[in-house]
Amino acid sequence: MVEKILASLEQSNCTTDTTFMQAVSEVLRSLEPIVQNDPRYERYGILERLVTPDRIIQFKVQWVDDQSRVHINNGYRIQFNNSLGPYKGGLRFHPSVNTNILKFLAFEQIFKNSLSGLPIGGAKGGSDFDPKGKSDFEIMKFCRAFMRELHQYIGARVDVPAGDIGVGSREIGFLYGEYKRITHSYEGVLSGKPYAFGGSLLRPEATGYGVVYFAAEMLKQELQETLEGKVCTVSGAGNVAIHTIEKLQQYGALVITCSDSDGAIYDPRGIDLSIVKELKEDGTRLSLEGYAARVPGSVYTKKADYPEGGHAVWSHPCFAAFPCATQNELSRSDAARLIENGCTAVIEGANMPTEPSAIELFQREGVLFVPGKASNAGGVAVSEFEMSQNASMEKWDFDKVDRKLNEIMCQIYKRVSLTAKECGCERNFVHGANIAAFKRVADAMILEGV
Ligand code: NDP
Repeated sequence: MVEKILASLEQSNCTTDTTFMQAVSEVLRSLEPIVQNDPRYERYGILERLVTPDRIIQFKVQWVDDQSRVHINNGYRIQFNNSLGPYKGGLRFHPSVNTNILKFLAFEQIFKNSLSGLPIGGAKGGSDFDPKGKSDFEIMKFCRAFMRELHQYIGARVDVPAGDIGVGSREIGFLYGEYKRITHSYEGVLSGKPYAFGGSLLRPEATGYGVVYFAAEMLKQELQETLEGKVCTVSGAGNVAIHTIEKLQQYGALVITCSDSDGAIYDPRGIDLSIVKELKEDGTRLSLEGYAARVPGSVYTKKADYPEGGHAVWSHPCFAAFPCATQNELSRSDAARLIENGCTAVIEGANMPTEPSAIELFQREGVLFVPGKASNAGGVAVSEFEMSQNASMEKWDFDKVDRKLNEIMCQIYKRVSLTAKECGCERNFVHGANIAAFKRVADAMILEGV
């Protein structure tokens, strides 16, 4: 049944939808045994319905730069599935954005949101706009133009976008301001807002902190280990990477790498996060080359000099690896190098950063591998806390949000590992995550009828 659906999807989707197909086939293949054992899933057409987005919205975004030149970008919102609650998922501003990438992200989001146990559906959106090198005013003008189109499709109980690559609290602030101007409504229609007007404490840190809470719980339960004193490698230097590094350091780990789209840093004495933040936060996005210039003993490797078919970050010995940059950034040869160098666990911070053949190798060699849909769900969880606070006009303190985030991440670990055990594939967290998430969504889809 799964192969039939994949074949027909392959035919009906554009041949360039390779990343989307990669995500769908990984999920559906995990589900094969349980779909075969429960005839309801076939009777209600659950798999076919699940792999088809509710709607794909595409719009033109026209804006004027500081030199009064007119620009046109594509804007998108993919509302994939709202069986569990309002559509929820980030907005990505990056030149690589297209419907293939957004369908993959929105599809993964359904499962991530389901695993969180919270009442939220799956969506994703964004634009091929490149924020790099743009002035604050240009970013503002673009965000306002984007929202002029998007506002008609979203709402606090309809679809609540958040940030992702290229969209942080600055962009969410501009987007929210425009939504308010157009609709005259002060409602929780976006999450990741600045704290000054409706944002939640800990939202900026949530994804990275959540990744480490998940990792700590898994290492404790599976290996009776802690992160204290352990060497860890992290890729990326954006929101998720920075807060993963921050929490790892708070737990006493030694983080020796980070990276951006142009190169990677290796610092054997431990990454100095204050320098990374200076280079990358507040939309500055300066090259990490500046880190090596300021920290003696650290090494910067340009992307062109990465090992053949791999990424410089993954060539260093480590206890645990945390890919936190972007999709498909950890290849099979990276995986082989990590295994050779004694890596015991790979915990994804980004969405689908590990290529399928690398995952297969990790699992075969007994490396604990956690897919992002389980380990990076902390961001969307705190986004949902923000929606709750907005709806009740409350403000929760930092400790309350942090405690609830930690609880959710431990619950996700428990749900995923227990499901894997029950399905006879102990420690296969990919199957565990896909099956646990699927059951919740599929049951809701059956109950609400076709
Ligand atoms: P940011 O834009 O803050 O950071 C992305 C980082 O990845 C930057 O350092 C960027 O480099 C680097 N990067 C981007 N593209 C590439 C590439 N092709 N090769 C190497 N490095 C690259 O994004 P986030 O940290 O928010 O997101 C990172 C990942 O985490 C994404 O997969 C996202 O979908 C996922 N995620 C994010 C959540 C969130 O709450 N923000 C929630 C859940 C998942 P540069 O500085 O040069 O641009």
